[in-house]
This record gives sequence, C-alpha cells and structure tokens, in this order.
Amino acid sequence: MTETSPARPVSTGVRQTRPRTEGWTQKKDADGRPLLQFASPRRGKPPVHLADMTPAERMEKVKELGMPGFRAKQLSTHYFTHHTSDPAHMTDLPAEQREEFVAGMLPPLLTEVRRLTTDRGDTIKFLWRLHDGALVESVLMRYPGRITLCVSSQAGCGMNCPFCATGQAGLTRNMSTAEIVEQVVRANRVIANGELGGKRADDHSMERVSNIVFMGMGEPLANYRRVMDAVRVMVEPQPNGLGMSARGITVSTVGLVPAIRKLADEHLPVTFALSLHAPDDELRDELIPVNSRWKVDEALDAAYGYFEKTGRRVSIEYALIKDMNDHAWRADLLAEKLNARGRGWVHVNPIPLNPTPESVWTASTREVTEEFVRRLNDAGIPTTLRDTRGKEIDGACGQLVATTEDESAAAAMV
Ligand code: SF4
Repeated sequence: MTETSPARPVSTGVRQTRPRTEGWTQKKDADGRPLLQFASPRRGKPPVHLADMTPAERMEKVKELGMPGFRAKQLSTHYFTHHTSDPAHMTDLPAEQREEFVAGMLPPLLTEVRRLTTDRGDTIKFLWRLHDGALVESVLMRYPGRITLCVSSQAGCGMNCPFCATGQAGLTRNMSTAEIVEQVVRANRVIANGELGGKRADDHSMERVSNIVFMGMGEPLANYRRVMDAVRVMVEPQPNGLGMSARGITVSTVGLVPAIRKLADEHLPVTFALSLHAPDDELRDELIPVNSRWKVDEALDAAYGYFEKTGRRVSIEYALIKDMNDHAWRADLLAEKLNARGRGWVHVNPIPLNPTPESVWTASTREVTEEFVRRLNDAGIPTTLRDTRGKEIDGACGQLVATTEDESAAAAMV
C-alpha cells in the first residue's frame, strides 16, 4: 500500500464548490451516506440467446431444437459476421424450420426506441428498450481510422454519483451478456447499412465497431461476470465471436477495488480505466460515493496492480468540473500520487464536463483546463484532454439516462 501526504494549497484563496444534487434527491442508507446498490433487483430474466452461450453450449441447444450441431456455426456466422438475426437472410438454413429455429436461438433483445444523430452524422445515440421495458442507451462515434461504441452494462446504476444522470435513477437491473453484445451487433448493422456518416475519403479502416468503451449506463464491474463474458464474446475470433482486439476494449470503473484485482487476473489484455475525478478523499467521498468503501489510495493501488500484472497502461478518467476538482493543487496531488507508484504506468484523460449554465456542475474554463493538463504533463504524467463527442445529443459520460420523453416513446411502442 502506498500512502502519500496530501499537498494541500498553502493559500485557501481558491474557490471550492461542493458537490450537490440538483433537481433530485439522493437516496441515503441508514447512516445517512449515499446509498450504494451492488445487487441487481430481481426481475424477469431476458431470454437466453446465442451470445449468452459458449460454442459447446450452442451446439447442445441447436440439437435440443432438433437441428444438427453444425447449424450452430452457421447461425454464429450470420450473427457475428453478417450482424443479422433475420431468418429471411439465412437461406442456408432449411426453409421449413428456419423461423422457429432462429427465434429459439436469436430471440429479440433490443428494440430501438429512438435514435439521435449529430449534424455531421458521425455520432449516433441509440435508446433501446429491453424485453422487460427497461431502457438503456449506446453511443456510436466515428473517428479517423476507428469506430467506437460506448455500451451500457446495466439498466440504471447503483453507484449514486451526484453528477451523473444515470445514477439518479438507481439500478433497475444488470444486463445479460447477450444484451451487452447485441449493442455491438446492432451498431455493426447500422454501419453496414451506411447509416453512420462522417467517413473521410482517405480513411480505409474497416467499416465496423473497432473500439468499445464500457462508459454507457452502469458500473461495469458491478455486473462483473456478464461483462467479462461479453468481453470474451467480443474478442473470440469469428465466426464464434466478434473477432475484436481486446486492446480496443476499455473497461472502466469508479473504483470497485476487489473487482479491479479480479480483472487483473483474467488474462484479457483490455484497457483499464479508473474514473477518479478527485485525488483527495475529502472531495471524492462526496463526488463518488463508492469512495466511502474504497479510498483513493486503495483504488490507485489496485489500478497500479492491474498494470503490474498485465503490463497494460492504465487510464485515469478525470471530469474537470469548475471550481470543484480543477484546482492546480489537485493536479499536483494527482501527479504526486501517480508518480509515487511508479513511472510509465498511467495516462490521465481529463474531460471537460458538459457545461450546464447556472449549475454547480459545469465545465472548467479553458485556462484552468490547460493549466491542469500542463501541470500533470510537466510532472511526467502523459495527459491528453479527451474529446467530449456526443455532448450535443446528451451522449457524453454521465448524461445517459432515459428521459420522461424517452419513456413515453418506449411505452407508445408496446
Ligand atoms: S458516473 Fe458511472 S458509476 Fe457513477 S452513477 Fe453514473 S454510471 Fe454509475
């Protein structure tokens, strides 16, 4: 365990805004602390789908449905390589049993309720309804040379962060492995149909999702097993999986320390991101309620442990919030804590919070942001300001939440 002394400011002339919820009431536990929900409320389970099963289980299920085992591979090719669940496209399957067979193996999981696209067409936010009416979102973004999908891992979230729209609604339930994977398959289908714009003439990269970030709804490590199974399906070569590179998959967390340690032992070279947002416990206790369980130093030690075990450089996510966590001394303290654990193991991604005028949750000024980044870089910590793509359609981190309007649109479809 590494302990570092906080480098507090000598002068307190710098303004300090305290976190607070606006327009909603934070749920509290018996001790008056923000409530953390780790267990998923019991609800009807989503139907079992091909993507929930291992290749061996798929063969078994196919046989149960009265088909020879090799049909599992044909179906996997349709789903993972051609991104289709439509029996009409599966002319290599016997026509008379096709509908029933496909319905048994590829039950519908996500119904598209709404789609918002930026003017340039290079970012699309999807609102999906799950089988039980729960709503989740994913955001598809094209960048030069890559296509990133921000996926949800839970309907709602139990971590109760006061700045996060998703956290306000609490945890509805964990998503199944197949519900997580289906977001990627559906995005690939949209791309294949030419519906994601913004491709540059000199961009010859593959037209499919190349990068995944688990930064949509939910705390991925609170739904650990299903998220790990989904990652395995994503990296499994085609036709049994999506054939993606593990390095292009980022699993993020607000700091569930035991789960970070478990992740380090998975031998999956995914990119690991810790959403830190404050280097001192005093502020982080209020900003990220899970800090009441695992403190900043414990989370950083676990993140460093991930680097030691996997050799993969860790990302620290830091939403810059005006006068709250953007002070120069906090940049220095963060650098000090990171350097105390070693060199070359970490990279910081500050992201200016989406501006909300008149709110305590608003973006740092450009000067303050630049100073924060400069101090970290000068201290030898590679730091890059992250893109806030998606903010114009409320698709940036902490903004994914179903609105009343979304719920009405979903209800109208039933
Ligand atoms: S910031 Fe992340 S962990 Fe916190 S409530 Fe929102 S979705 Fe959950």
